[in-house]
Amino acid sequence: MDLWYDIDMKEIDVKRIGDKTEELFGRIAYRYPEMIMDAIHQAHQEETNSRACNVFSMLKENARIAVEEHIPICQDTGMAVVWLSIGQDVHLTGGDVNTAIHEAVGRSYTGNALRASVVDDPLYARKNTKNNTPALIHTRIVPGDTVTIEVMAKGFGSENKSQLKMLTPAMGVEGVKEFVVETVRKAGPDACPPYVVGVGIGGDFESCAEMSKRALLREEPQEDPQYNQLEKELLESINQLNIGPMGYGGKATALKVMVEYAPTHIAGLPCAVNICCHVCRHAKAVIE
Ligand code: SF4
Repeated sequence: MDLWYDIDMKEIDVKRIGDKTEELFGRIAYRYPEMIMDAIHQAHQEETNSRACNVFSMLKENARIAVEEHIPICQDTGMAVVWLSIGQDVHLTGGDVNTAIHEAVGRSYTGNALRASVVDDPLYARKNTKNNTPALIHTRIVPGDTVTIEVMAKGFGSENKSQLKMLTPAMGVEGVKEFVVETVRKAGPDACPPYVVGVGIGGDFESCAEMSKRALLREEPQEDPQYNQLEKELLESINQLNIGPMGYGGKATALKVMVEYAPTHIAGLPCAVNICCHVCRHAKAVIE
């Protein structure tokens, strides 16, 4: 039998994906994403509440110390979440890509002495795995011949305040707004504001939750004019809650609101809110 192989198919060794993943987690533990640092500077400039200004000064000092003295930004160094976008013209070589990522996360957390926060069983044993593995890996196949790695170290103070609700279509835009703002109001000061708020609208139960977390990775506002407007209106409403940085009041309860949306069923309007603290550690790399 004749077999045909595309000998031009791009090969990428999973070791390269693992090495880059290790590097990214080692970086985000100590360095705010640039867009978050910019947002903190801007919010500080616009703040008039003196207690909130003091908090912003402390956050900026903490960020400086983290970089200069190589001390993690926060003691909760998060659960490792990885999004892999694999080009359909790529042939992954060198072993199992999931194993490569789990091992990379383990190396990064132990090598940098970052806190290990993962337990092996959620309900009974709850034994610490000691190296912050396993990671949570979301994989998607995309056009092209590159592999994009996006990582997030998600603290659970904020994860615990996230929520999902299956709204009815009749609840519409107002229902979404009410749910998002109410979720932030309920989080109060507990998840280290000012927040970055990821919102997923549409899809189904689980894809909506994933969208809301993936929204936190986005560096630019929504391109769609209606959803762009929704992001602005949600941010304005949230910032009227007067929770403020670390709960001391002020204009900045959230730095950003990022909305992702997807087609859904005629009978439903899923909406998920993933709350992220001001640290919002994430980074991206492309393997070519
Ligand atoms: S919510 Fe964020 S800032 Fe607060 S303890 Fe967790 S990781 Fe640290």
